[in-house]
Amino acid sequence: MKICVLPGDGIGPEIMEQALRVLEALRGDDFNFEVETALIGGSAVDATGTPYPEATSKAAKAADAILLGAVGGPKWDTLPREQRPERGLLAIRKELNLFANLRPAILYPELANASTLKPEVVAGLDILIVRELTGDIYFGQPRGVREENGERVGFNTMVYSESEIRRIGKVAFEAARKRGKRLCSVDKMNVLEATQLWRDVMIEISADYPDVELSHMLVDNAAMQLVRAPKQFDVMVTGNMFGDILSDEASMLTGSIGMLPSASLDANNKGLYEPSHGSAPDIAGKGLANPLATILSAAMMLRYTFNLEAKALRIENAVKKVLAAGYRTGDIYEAGTRQVGTKEMGDAVLAAL
Ligand code: NAD
Repeated sequence: MKICVLPGDGIGPEIMEQALRVLEALRGDDFNFEVETALIGGSAVDATGTPYPEATSKAAKAADAILLGAVGGPKWDTLPREQRPERGLLAIRKELNLFANLRPAILYPELANASTLKPEVVAGLDILIVRELTGDIYFGQPRGVREENGERVGFNTMVYSESEIRRIGKVAFEAARKRGKRLCSVDKMNVLEATQLWRDVMIEISADYPDVELSHMLVDNAAMQLVRAPKQFDVMVTGNMFGDILSDEASMLTGSIGMLPSASLDANNKGLYEPSHGSAPDIAGKGLANPLATILSAAMMLRYTFNLEAKALRIENAVKKVLAAGYRTGDIYEAGTRQVGTKEMGDAVLAAL
């Protein structure tokens, strides 16, 4: 099993170090892996002049999975667009055709106070948002701004082909099968034909997944239900634009950015795994960063690319244990708990494993 490791910038290298210690501890007959480390983002710009060098592209293509820290920082903010660290991320997602974005939002009972919602509404929340990442109105043609009757008119095209809907639907049904076996497909079929097709195709796919209960919800209602009663959901699947908005809404239900992993998959479950947060330049190099989102991203890698569910669960349970024992990095600290740094948090997860 080949893992391409891209630590990136800012806190990236620090949090990655802890995730790699956890993976090393799980090495075994069923998990025999090699690591190839490469540059991405600002550190790649410094070394090679480009945020996604050829050597990194080669390593990423050759790997079964990619584990990424974070990219970016003030040092590179004034560079021309093509050299910005974020271009590296866009380039790798595009090159590897990562069309399925999986973002779990889990609120551990011990962190219930971090949410802006009432603890009884969110404590124990565990949902997964599956967002289509390479289609929809963000990529549809035609697009632009034109002159019409003496004024400017802006236009974009919402477009989904049956095959695009089918492949993201399949990822979502498979993910639901590995969890609570309930899938809610979110659309706007009362107004948009493209999403009527979305709903029709989801219903067709459901015939292959009789063990998964499929429901549908209009996006406006879904946005409301996510803050009213988020625990009603198990897996949600939706298009690129609705998913962009709903996945950010869902992640903020947990209130703690340092805890949220993500996965972006291609059609063969090759994946890019990364924390949802950025490179946190304000705390970089100080040993303060929370490594748990990256450690949980590594767990997702074991689940979705390597099919090692038991090992993924071991990591997730170790994280739960560490939180229950009161360990907190600064971002999730509250009175009465024990504040630790990045490495101590890694130590605690290893001990719990
Ligand atoms: P950020 O997520 O880096 O930081 C926001 C706040 O959360 C900061 O106060 C930071 O200290 C804190 N934080 C984030 N992750 C943390 C962690 N693991 N532990 C403890 N605290 C944590 O967002 P930002 O400040 O808007 O962006 C900083 C840089 O990161 C920018 O250059 C931005 O472009 C980049 N960025 C990269 C990604 C990515 O690599 N996927 C995502 C978002 C932002």
